[in-house]
Amino acid sequence: MPSSRATSPKPLSGKIILVTGAGDGIGKSVSLAYARAGATVILLGRTQQKLEQVYDEIVSEQLCEPIIHPMDLASASVEDYELLGKSVKEQFGHLDGLLHNAGHLGTLGPMQYMPPETWMKIMQINVNAGFLLTRALMPALLASSDARVLFTSSSVGRKGRAYWGAYAVSKFAVEGMMQVLADELQSISAIKVNSVNPGATRTPMRAAAYPAENPGSLPTPESLTPAYVFLMSDAAAQINGQAINIRELLEQVPSSV
Ligand code: NDP
Repeated sequence: MPSSRATSPKPLSGKIILVTGAGDGIGKSVSLAYARAGATVILLGRTQQKLEQVYDEIVSEQLCEPIIHPMDLASASVEDYELLGKSVKEQFGHLDGLLHNAGHLGTLGPMQYMPPETWMKIMQINVNAGFLLTRALMPALLASSDARVLFTSSSVGRKGRAYWGAYAVSKFAVEGMMQVLADELQSISAIKVNSVNPGATRTPMRAAAYPAENPGSLPTPESLTPAYVFLMSDAAAQINGQAINIRELLEQVPSSV
């Protein structure tokens, strides 16, 4: 007799989900988890080779074939975003999930010494790209019967901390964008918009921020994935406008999700 796990439908079966920063860190692990949960994943990132590795891993497990979309969020034009939005709509007809995960840390230090070009780059990748991508993909999101948009925040996007400069300010902006969009869309669409704070996680970005820290002391990106899958699943259909802590959510979400 087959086990219930073998017969139960995958939580993201048939869903189309775009993940930014899909080539490394949390985005890579979450993209693999979405594919394992049955989704077709559009892998967006800066480094084609890294995206190809994630693609190969998904295909080697005989999951839904993903799409690779190399794009540098620091330099992409408004037209680049619009072309992506059109091609997603044409190819799939709709988009069920959008995870804004790519992020840029920049340099840490007193705000008065932050080079203006570093400030602008962080804002471009962490804030402006989130707006431009959401705007371009809105027709596809609106065409879904139950779409989700997840922004990625940070503890320093919920309480300011010295020396976190533009990164912290950008994450506050992300929280604001999430709240405005969630409020705007709730009465006119099925789209749910939330933000997530993954918490300290063993990734290249964390290592850059805390070079003296032992990475082995931190949770892996893989350990977070049940919460990210849950938030894209039908089980999370009522959650809207929330600033979510992934660690807290993990305590409530079964690891089989
Ligand atoms: P990583 O630096 O490990 O990975 C970030 C990913 O984003 C990489 O794949 C990177 O591409 C991609 N990326 C960066 N810049 C661009 C760009 N200009 N265009 C396209 N893609 C880009 O970060 P994490 O996995 O640690 O972080 C993921 C998210 O979680 C971020 O938003 C971060 O702010 C947030 N976060 C992380 C925490 C942590 O402890 N790790 C804690 C709190 C929040 P490439 O590999 O090619 O450089």
